[in-house]
Amino acid sequence: DREAALAADTAPGATSDGHPVQLLANVGTEEDARRAAPTAEGVGLFRTEVLFLDQATAPDAQTQTALYAGVLEQFPGHKVVVRTLDAGADKPLAFLSQADEDNPALGIRGYRLVRTAEALIQEQIEALAAASRAVPGTELWAMTPMIATPAEAADFARRARAAGVATVGVMVEVPAAALKAADILAEVDFVSLGTNDLAQYTMASDRLRGELSDLLSIWQPAVLELVATTARAGLDAGKPVGVCGESAGDPLMALVLTGLGITSLSMAASALPAVRYAVRHHTREQCERIASAALSARTAEEAQRAAAGLVADDV
Ligand code: PEP
Ligand code: MG
Repeated sequence: DREAALAADTAPGATSDGHPVQLLANVGTEEDARRAAPTAEGVGLFRTEVLFLDQATAPDAQTQTALYAGVLEQFPGHKVVVRTLDAGADKPLAFLSQADEDNPALGIRGYRLVRTAEALIQEQIEALAAASRAVPGTELWAMTPMIATPAEAADFARRARAAGVATVGVMVEVPAAALKAADILAEVDFVSLGTNDLAQYTMASDRLRGELSDLLSIWQPAVLELVATTARAGLDAGKPVGVCGESAGDPLMALVLTGLGITSLSMAASALPAVRYAVRHHTREQCERIASAALSARTAEEAQRAAAGLVADDV
């Protein structure tokens, strides 16, 4: 049947006219990585905090290195984008006693931890570099979350490069970072859009509040515009811009993102077959037309309808 045929197709992502779009997996554990390996071209988001969610004490450097190496080993010859700890707000860590914040989503989370727990961040960066040396067959790309300014991106890049990480990037998930994507890209080798948080912060809508799901839609014109701005900055700089939020796993949105010039889409491994199929059945130019139709809309519904009206029936 269709499901089985789609799952059996593991070719690299590309439009029907051969424009490549890397199809990557979001993983949190070695087991996730092992399961994703047959269908993904690599990992676009390794959420390292998942390894530590139930730990009472901070893992030491050696333990961290072994855990990261375990994931890298699942993707010989491929890239694995490892994200430094994204603790705080919706992802609290037991061993990191964080101040009781009134607005944790706007507080010390992601790379901002460098302000209050610098040793922990530094140790993780060094453990990542050590894991990369231990598994030389896999390309480790290091990135950090919750970046708002080019200066923060430069600070992470300096630390990661000093530790010996070859490819360094940051997430674009705060509107300020999307607006200044060109200046951020001047500091790093790549960026990856976290559309879950980008929607949350653009629309000032808690990502965990189901009642606000209409506002949190990536199809919201304001969110789409920030994604387009970031993609354009990547094209201008000649540097990769990926998407690793849940939106990348929606086949229709994947076509919009491809049309905007996004170079990789990272998603739950289960979403890869349908996205691969959708991308494979459209040309780059069709994707561009789908993207401009979505970008010209004035509401989320209109954007989605406009895009849907231009795609092949079975996507
Ligand atoms: C995102 O914010 O879109 C993202 C990929 O990161 P997380 O969902 O882990 O915050
Ligand atoms: Mg995020």
